[in-house]
Amino acid sequence: MAFNSADINSFQDIWVFCEQREGKLVNTDFELISEGRKLADERGSKLVGILLGHKVGEIAKELGGYGADKIIVCDHPDLKFYTTDAYARVLCDAVMEEKPEVILIGATNIGRDLGPRCAARLHTGLTADCTHLDIDMKKYVDFLSTSSTLDVASMSFPMADTNLKMTRPAFGGHLMATIICPRFRPCMSTVRPGVMKKSEFSQAKADACEIELRQVALSKEDLKTKVVDIVKEAKKIVDLIGAEIIVSVGRGISKDVEGGIALAEKLADAFGNGVVGGSRAVIDSGWLPADHQVGQTGKTVHPKVYVALGISGAIQHKAGMQDSELIIAVNKDETAPIFDCADYGITGDLFQIVPMMIEAVIEGKNA
Ligand SMILES: Cc1cc2nc3c(=O)[nH]c(=O)nc-3n(C[C@H](O)[C@H](O)[C@H](O)COP(=O)(O)OP(=O)(O)OC[C@H]3O[C@@H](n4cnc5c(N)ncnc54)[C@H](O)[C@@H]3O)c2cc1C
Repeated sequence: MAFNSADINSFQDIWVFCEQREGKLVNTDFELISEGRKLADERGSKLVGILLGHKVGEIAKELGGYGADKIIVCDHPDLKFYTTDAYARVLCDAVMEEKPEVILIGATNIGRDLGPRCAARLHTGLTADCTHLDIDMKKYVDFLSTSSTLDVASMSFPMADTNLKMTRPAFGGHLMATIICPRFRPCMSTVRPGVMKKSEFSQAKADACEIELRQVALSKEDLKTKVVDIVKEAKKIVDLIGAEIIVSVGRGISKDVEGGIALAEKLADAFGNGVVGGSRAVIDSGWLPADHQVGQTGKTVHPKVYVALGISGAIQHKAGMQDSELIIAVNKDETAPIFDCADYGITGDLFQIVPMMIEAVIEGKNA
């Protein structure tokens, strides 16, 4: 029977597209499998990962350790490197045959390319760049009561609703929108890297995870692009998402940009293994490369310690760092909004305060 995305009752299971690069799983896979487990439990369905690549069967089991019941492995030499046409073909074929109800894809460069292509081909909807997901209506209402200004008690909700509720920032981060896809399946969502929490790895779950090898049929007509060579940029990309200590600078360093960045680097070093981030003002001014940007259009981070130096605390910046375990802010304006989410706030000129902080951190460590 032909695939019909409107026949919504024939779809089941939660799927996660598991991305690999050069045969290695990416962090987003573990975050999405952990989140997918939560959704599958809410829906009472299976959690299935789908992994495309060449000779990737060995790495599939690890995904089970974060909660996947099954991993479908699509192994083919033409899937070794990502190409839109080959990956879209194989993923869409699998979806048309197996009919998952939900597909989660990391909002990485690859995911942002693959997701919309597949959604169009499958004639269904996709919500991009989600930061929160629910299926269970009660959990969604709890989320609204803790994270929104809505008077939830005076509102009524269809409690039996089982659509995936996909929440993402809208209108430049000034409000959050929850989007559903009620008439078509699968419900597709790309999810921001670094937002969903990775659960604890369980070896027992990894051992119990079923691995299914799926035959891949790719013809010459399917492959319009060919990866000839991969050239990597020589510079080291900063790992903000995995960092435990982040010292970020804002436009407040403008009177001595090099000096301000050097102070941030010294403070990050004093803490040990810290990295330097920046607000969009800093990136747009070309003072730091784009991979250092924290915020709604940059990275979402939750380090143990986040230090904001000369950053005002615009809503779009806070969206990327407010879940950090400990926030320290230095700003010469005592009314700066960054102080609203800071655990420790220091009012003053960062060029005077940061050298004292560096000294204090070093002294503290030596003691
Ligand atoms: C759609 C959209 C997406 C966006 N995405 C992002 C994003 O991902 N990340 C992001 O950061 N922004 C983002 N922005 C931009 C955001 O709105 C702000 O413009 C930006 O965060 C401001 O950066 P800032 O705090 O460094 O600069 P400013 O707002 O100019 O703040 C500078 C601060 O430094 C303080 N200061 C000045 N001198 C000193 C000194 N010597 N010592 C101490 N403090 C000092 C000032 O009091 C001020 O509070 C986005 C905006 C839009 C519309």
